Amino acid sequence: MTPTEAAPERSAANSSLDDVVAELRAREAFVFVSHVKPDGDTLGAGLALGLALRAMGKRVNYFQQDPVPRNLRFLPDAERVARALPADLPADALWVFCDMSDSSRAGEFLPALERRNMLDIDHHLANSRFGGLNYILEDECSTGTVVLRILRALGARVTPEIATCLLTTIMTDTGAFMHSNTNAQVLRLAAEMIDAGADKELITTEIFSNKRFAAIKIVGASLERAKLEDGGRYCWSLVDDAMLAAAGADGEDTEEIVQHLRAVEGVDVAALFKAYDGEVRVSLRSNGRVNVQSAAGRLGGGGHFRASGLTYRGPLAEAIEAVHAALLAEGL
Ligand code: AMP
Ligand code: MN
Ligand code: MN
Repeated sequence: MTPTEAAPERSAANSSLDDVVAELRAREAFVFVSHVKPDGDTLGAGLALGLALRAMGKRVNYFQQDPVPRNLRFLPDAERVARALPADLPADALWVFCDMSDSSRAGEFLPALERRNMLDIDHHLANSRFGGLNYILEDECSTGTVVLRILRALGARVTPEIATCLLTTIMTDTGAFMHSNTNAQVLRLAAEMIDAGADKELITTEIFSNKRFAAIKIVGASLERAKLEDGGRYCWSLVDDAMLAAAGADGEDTEEIVQHLRAVEGVDVAALFKAYDGEVRVSLRSNGRVNVQSAAGRLGGGGHFRASGLTYRGPLAEAIEAVHAALLAEGL
């Protein structure tokens, strides 16, 4: 780098585990932050670390812009998660962001924060290292397993409640052990969580079955409209407000659709365009040939090599064109 070039604002380096543990011990109050449209990883990771800190006598609050999805309300302490913050929150509370590559993923209601009061715990590629402390392990299957390393360094006991939260993060982000991030170590950690008292049956029932009838109707409606392009390598579909209304469904019922599109024989990349609630959000999934994190990154989104997402600022038809172009540019 020449002296005239500005130094990049983000530092690529992680904080040390010792520094993270020292900071957690030093602070008295915490706010755990999950990303918009929360999933089992962002919530489970924060709830697990929050439970451990509460057991150490710390004050713990949770900030999440969106409501807890129906299928995650079973998580221990989920009822404490809210958008509203207590009026007497100490100024030196540490805000702990779980499972997001940038703090903007927490949504527009996040108050302005000083960097030194932010801890970034994550496993996404291209994390912007927005915290005063950043602990990002890209090879971990979930942010929850990053948290488990922190819990061990803290010497915290993994209670059955914490184990349920952490097993939820693993099962969510591995697609119930189906995705390629499921290696032997992940299965060992999952077994450890079950030994520690995690309620696997509850997780399976609440997250992966117990679908509302409206949910299967919206899956059906979206699959009915699926298109197969690029010689069968690209499968995409959409869900819009009218389709949701016709099925009596809502955005929480659309989560599994993109997996079905990706599971079609010969498909390398699947996309689901979600044009509802005043936004166009896109879910991308890859079988490993095309890097969908890079493709989403071209349009301001992010994620992982095989699973990524973005919010498109513009009409649906433009989003469909732009995503296709980004995927072609990444080798679709
Ligand atoms: P989803 O398709 O919503 O399940 O998201 C798949 C992956 O992409 C997750 O790891 C998300 O954190 C990430 N992701 C989704 N939307 C965005 C976005 N707008 N910006 C950055 N990452 C995203
Ligand atoms: Mn997530
Ligand atoms: Mn995750």
